Amino acid sequence: MGFWHEKTLGEMSEWEWESLCDGCGRCCLHKLEDEDTGEILFTRVACHLLDIGTCRCGNYAKRGKLVPDCLSLRDGFTQFHWLPATCAYRLLAQGDDLPAWHPLVSGRADSVHTAGMSVRGFALPEAGVDCLEDHIIEWPE
Ligand code: SF4
Ligand code: SF4
Repeated sequence: MGFWHEKTLGEMSEWEWESLCDGCGRCCLHKLEDEDTGEILFTRVACHLLDIGTCRCGNYAKRGKLVPDCLSLRDGFTQFHWLPATCAYRLLAQGDDLPAWHPLVSGRADSVHTAGMSVRGFALPEAGVDCLEDHIIEWPE
């Protein structure tokens, strides 16, 4: 049993909350919303602050100022459909468990990469991309 089985997202400590992030970097790819259906479409184009090699934010502490539309997942966040289906926060919010490749389950920080679940080697830098619609993707589940 892990702490995520015993606590709700709102009950977690700062450390517990932060450790839930698997480091996949998927939420840091640009998304589009279909105006007619409301469907969220993911692209392979990364936020300019994302370090594609490590899949970590290049300035996590100041991300809110540097990228105003960066989603803050705490403080009453309910828009979990904007997150990829594999995101730990979305999984727990909808009552699912963490997958075997999640670092908290595997005990290895790199298991998210070795399982092919991160954007490493997959994401495109934002610079030089003219049209997000040309880079829409579907995630392997
Ligand atoms: S999608 Fe979720 S688990 Fe992956 S990096 Fe973003 S917040 Fe963390
Ligand atoms: S600012 Fe950082 S956390 Fe926010 S989307 Fe960009 S890389 Fe991700």
